[in-house]
Amino acid sequence: MKKGNMIIKNSSELVTCSGNKAKFGKEMGNINVISNGAVVIEDGIIKDVGNTEDILKKYDETKYEVIDAKDKCVLPGFVDSHTHFIFGGYRAEEFSWRLRGDSYMEIMNRGGGIVNSVTGTRNATKEELFDLGKKRLNSMLKFGVTTVEGKSGYGLDYETEIKQLEVMKELDEEHPIDICRTFLGAHAVPNEYKGRTDEYIDFILEKVLPKVAEDKLADFFDVFCEKGVFSVEESRKMFLKAKEYNMKLKIHADEIVELGGAELAAELGMVSADHLLHASDKGIKDMAEKGVVSTLLPTTAFCLKEPFAKGRFMIDNGCAVALATDFNPGSGFTNSIPLMFALATIYMNMSIEEAITAMTLNGAAAIDRADEVGSIDIGKKGDIVILEYPSYKFLPYHTGVNIVEKVIKNGVLVHNN
Ligand SMILES: [Zn+2]
Repeated sequence: MKKGNMIIKNSSELVTCSGNKAKFGKEMGNINVISNGAVVIEDGIIKDVGNTEDILKKYDETKYEVIDAKDKCVLPGFVDSHTHFIFGGYRAEEFSWRLRGDSYMEIMNRGGGIVNSVTGTRNATKEELFDLGKKRLNSMLKFGVTTVEGKSGYGLDYETEIKQLEVMKELDEEHPIDICRTFLGAHAVPNEYKGRTDEYIDFILEKVLPKVAEDKLADFFDVFCEKGVFSVEESRKMFLKAKEYNMKLKIHADEIVELGGAELAAELGMVSADHLLHASDKGIKDMAEKGVVSTLLPTTAFCLKEPFAKGRFMIDNGCAVALATDFNPGSGFTNSIPLMFALATIYMNMSIEEAITAMTLNGAAAIDRADEVGSIDIGKKGDIVILEYPSYKFLPYHTGVNIVEKVIKNGVLVHNN
């Protein structure tokens, strides 16, 4: 990937989100704003940050690509730390059924739900999935996303799970957005294993996981721990095995009912636990204590008309909260950062500053990359978003509208609106 030399100067607000690990509780409100700020990027890496006058005394502008950010706000590139963006087929019909009030079971009986995406993904060629993935990454980039996490889990068989991960590996090499890969073979029990969950778990652990680990196809191992899918006991068994392969852990926890996923995340010291709509107060406090990032996905709750996760309560109890889109073909086919930002600030009572931390530094921490992305700090990747307005406060104020003007990845201008 190309790496650039760049100076961004005269920014009315340079929001650094400074830090190299997750911010917990009250700390999330501290985003560190430099007025009339400038950033220097050399060979793709941030070399200096400060006041424009001070910076321009030290560096020769003629040696860099220069962007004048006068009357613009500059932020770190956004990190979308939970998505399922590699899939075949769409479920628009199913969405319309849900809008008219059909029940989950009725939709399932008509062939809807995850099975639909599994069929579409199994039938898609690697090239088709690559092209779809690229198109979706291009859309994310326009919203200012410079790092994304993507999961397998629409294969639920050996070939397709591997295919999804390999497609993301190839996209990571070709596309400006960095991709963190997660193996989610335990997303559901496929039809051919119906009533034989134990056998499917053995298949995942004995046949697929060793290949994923050996070929380094994924950084993370994830389980959909939910009533009627995988129990806490089944999930624990899988996570312990994945740990033996040195994989990092994250979990889909307490989305539909309170099952104890948050507690399990704390017990096993996972990097993040995600969804958490029905997480218990104890689980939330355990996670804060053990340093597990709480990744909240408000656009999914919105699309499903579910109550939002208790973001305010979590922050007040010392959690590190991250926000992600959960971009997926079923419960929320959206990668809209502005929609997510609006829901987090208006409905989840997160402050604007906390929501920014949740989309940058804490998003990076949720995929264990807070030492390389998520803030504008010396030594990190030159991943930058420039807004068309002078203040970060326009993010929720210009509600639901994409106000990203420029996106810079590794010091290279990759999107210019
Ligand atoms: Zn998910």
